[in-house]
Amino acid sequence: MFIDDTIAAIATAPGEGGIGIIRISGSKSLSVAEEIFKSVSGKNITDYNTRTLIYGHILDGDKKIDEVLLAFMKGPNSYTAEDVIEINCHGGFISVKKILELILSKDVRLADEGEFTKRAFLNGRIDLSQAEAVIDVIKAKTDKAQEVAQSHLSGVLANKIKELRFKVTEVLAHLTVSIDFSEEDVEEITYAMLIESAQGLRSEIKSLYDSAESGKVLRDGLKTVIVGKPNVGKSSLLNYILGENRAIVTEIAGTTRDVIEEFVNIKGIPLKIVDTAGIRETEDIVEKIGVEKSRESFNSADLVIIVIDGSKELSQEDKEILEQAVDKKTIVLLNKNDLDQVVSEEEIAKYVDKDSIIKISALKNEGIEQVHNKIESMVFKGDIRNNSSVVVTNSRHKDALLKAYNAINDAIDGIDQRLPYDFIEVDFKNIWDYLGYINGDTVQEDLLDTIFANFCIGK
Ligand code: GDP
Ligand code: ZN
Repeated sequence: MFIDDTIAAIATAPGEGGIGIIRISGSKSLSVAEEIFKSVSGKNITDYNTRTLIYGHILDGDKKIDEVLLAFMKGPNSYTAEDVIEINCHGGFISVKKILELILSKDVRLADEGEFTKRAFLNGRIDLSQAEAVIDVIKAKTDKAQEVAQSHLSGVLANKIKELRFKVTEVLAHLTVSIDFSEEDVEEITYAMLIESAQGLRSEIKSLYDSAESGKVLRDGLKTVIVGKPNVGKSSLLNYILGENRAIVTEIAGTTRDVIEEFVNIKGIPLKIVDTAGIRETEDIVEKIGVEKSRESFNSADLVIIVIDGSKELSQEDKEILEQAVDKKTIVLLNKNDLDQVVSEEEIAKYVDKDSIIKISALKNEGIEQVHNKIESMVFKGDIRNNSSVVVTNSRHKDALLKAYNAINDAIDGIDQRLPYDFIEVDFKNIWDYLGYINGDTVQEDLLDTIFANFCIGK
C-alpha cells in the first residue's frame, strides 16, 4: 500500500492543559511547517538537527498565532516512519484548534482515529500486535496491565509470533522437499520429524492461548457484580472497595444515558464494577440487581460476589441466590463478622467451594485482604504472575491462536494417519496464516479499519 497524503491532528487530550501538541505526518510535513513557522533564532528548521526542539512562532501570514516549540523528525526515524512535525503550543482549546486549522488549509488532511499508528504499521516500523499495544498502553487501568501492554509494544508478542512462524516455515520447507521422495524409509523419518515439530508447536501455541484467559482480564477488566438481599452490607462493601482502590472512571456515551464504568485496582487486576453510577444515584441499584436479577448477573459477569449477613439466619432469599452460584467465579462473603455469628461456613459450603467463602466485616474493614488474595488467585493461575512469560491480552489474538491450535491438531491427526504430505502441508499453511493474523501479515484491510477505529484521533 502506498501512502502519499499528509495528515495532521491534535495529539493531546481536549481541554485545558499546559501544553497542546499538534502532529503532522507525511511527505508535506516539512514544507507545511516551513510555511507557517518562524524560529526566533532566524534559522530554518533544517538548519537544526532532526528531533531538536526549536523555539519560535506559528504565523498565519503576518499574524502571530502562538508561541511554540517545534520538532522535525525525519522519516524513517519517527513514530510513523514518515516525516513528522510536532508542534508544542499552549494548551487549551483555541491555540491548538487555530494551528490545526491553519495546517489543514495547506493541503493536509485531518487524520483518522489511530492513523498515525496505522501508518507506523503499514510502513513496517511495528507489527500489528505492537500497534494494538499502543492503545492498550493508553487505556491500561492498572500498573500491571500497563506493564504487559508495554511489553507488547516493545515487541515481546511480535517476536514470539515471528519465532513460531519461522518454525512453521521450516516444516513447510521440509515438506516441500520431501514431497519429491517416495521411498518408504525416508517417509518414516519425515513423519517422525513432523510429529515432533508439530507437537512442539502445539504446546507453544497452547500456552500462549492459555495465557489469554488472565491476559484478557488485565486488558478489559474483570466484570464484577455484587449481589445479595437488602441490608447485608453490599453498599458498605462497595464503598470500602471503591474508597481504597478506585482506579479509573470512564464514561461511555450510551444511547439513553451515560454509563459510568468504575475500575477498581485489586492487585493489578482491573475490576470493572458494573453500573455503579446507578448505585450512586438511586442509593441502591445493587438491591435491584440483588435478588431477581442475580441469575442474569451470574451469566454475564466474570466475577460474582455474594454477600450474606452472617449475623442472621440464612433466609430463603439468601438460599435462592446461593443456588445460582457457579464455582470458579463466585466468592461468598459472610459479612458482619464483628457481630455474633449465626451462619456457619459449613452451611454455605453446601452451595460453593469452601475456598470461596470469606468472613469479613465491611463496617470494621476486616477481611478485605483475603478477598483481594482470592480474586488474584482466581485470575492469575501462576504463569502470568512472573513477568517472564508472554501474555496474550487481546481477544482477537486469542481467536487467532485458537484457529492456529485447531489447525495444528488437524496436522497432527494427518501425520498420525500418515496422510500424503500435501494434505499436511495445507494444515501448516493454515497455521502460518492464522499466526499472521496476530502480527498483521495476513490480515484484511477492513479488519485494520475496525482495529484502528478504537484509537483516539492523534494517536
Ligand atoms: P445493603 O443494603 O446490602 O447495601 O447493605 P448496607 O451496606 O446498606 O448495610 C446495611 C446496614 O448494615 C447498615 O446499617 C450498615 O452499617 C450495616 N453493616 C454493613 N456491614 C456491616 C458489618 O460488617 N458489620 C456490622 N455490624 N454492620 C454492618
Ligand atoms: Zn445498599
